[in-house]
Formats: sequence, structure tokens, C-alpha cells
Amino acid sequence: MPNVAILYCKRIKDHSCIGCAKCFKGIEEKNGEFARHDDITLVAMTDCGDCPGLTVPRVKLLSEVAKNLERPIETLHLGTCMKMAMATAQCPIAFDDLKATVQDKFGLDVVLGTHSY
Ligand code: SF4
Ligand code: SF4
Repeated sequence: MPNVAILYCKRIKDHSCIGCAKCFKGIEEKNGEFARHDDITLVAMTDCGDCPGLTVPRVKLLSEVAKNLERPIETLHLGTCMKMAMATAQCPIAFDDLKATVQDKFGLDVVLGTHSY
């Protein structure tokens, strides 16, 4: 049962989705990028750190807190909102670079996207 955390785009959350209801439903249905997991324990959900891409310090804090609570994160999903921001809203995050850095520094698998709707 992988421990999963989700990051959302600070600028889009509650504008394109509300209350992250789509990701909660997506987890329950194993929809979209959640289909890769047999079972999911959602241990945390927070924002990306805001523009201009302050994600690494955010993930550092998130990772440390989750470990201290004895619920270490194994997989970090960047929400579909972040994927949309990168594709259409001039988000400064370079996914491949961020994935490599987060894997290297914190040992987390990073997935781009969450639900498909
Ligand atoms: S895509 Fe997911 S993480 Fe992003 S705002 Fe929507 S429900 Fe929340
Ligand atoms: S556009 Fe990118 S860096 Fe800016 S708030 Fe959204 S996800 Fe974060």
C-alpha cells in the first residue's frame, strides 16, 4: 500500500477544481495516474510552493514531516492541475529536472498527473 502525497498548483487549486474533490474521487476509483497503484494511502496534500517553482524546499519539508509522523512518502504525484499549469499557464517547473532532483535528494518516485477528468 504505497504512501502517496499530492502537490497541487497554488494558483489553480479551487479555481479549476474545488476542495480537491477530483483527486479524492480519482484515488477511490484508481483513475488516471492512480491506476498504477494496487492500493493508496494518501498521507499528505499541499501546494507546489508557488511560482516561480519553489517545489524542492516544499518537498523537503513535506518529506521530513511525513517521516516524523512515521508515514514516509513513497510516491509524489503532481496533480493534474500542475500538469495543466505546465502545459498551458507558463508554469516554470521543468518536470524531468524536478523528478530527478526529488528522486535523488529525497528518494521519492514522482508521477506527473493524478485523475484523468
Ligand atoms: S487536480 Fe487534484 S490536486 Fe489539483 S486542484 Fe484538482 S483535485 Fe486538487
Ligand atoms: S504555475 Fe507552477 S509553480 Fe506556479 S503555482 Fe502553479 S504549479 Fe506552482
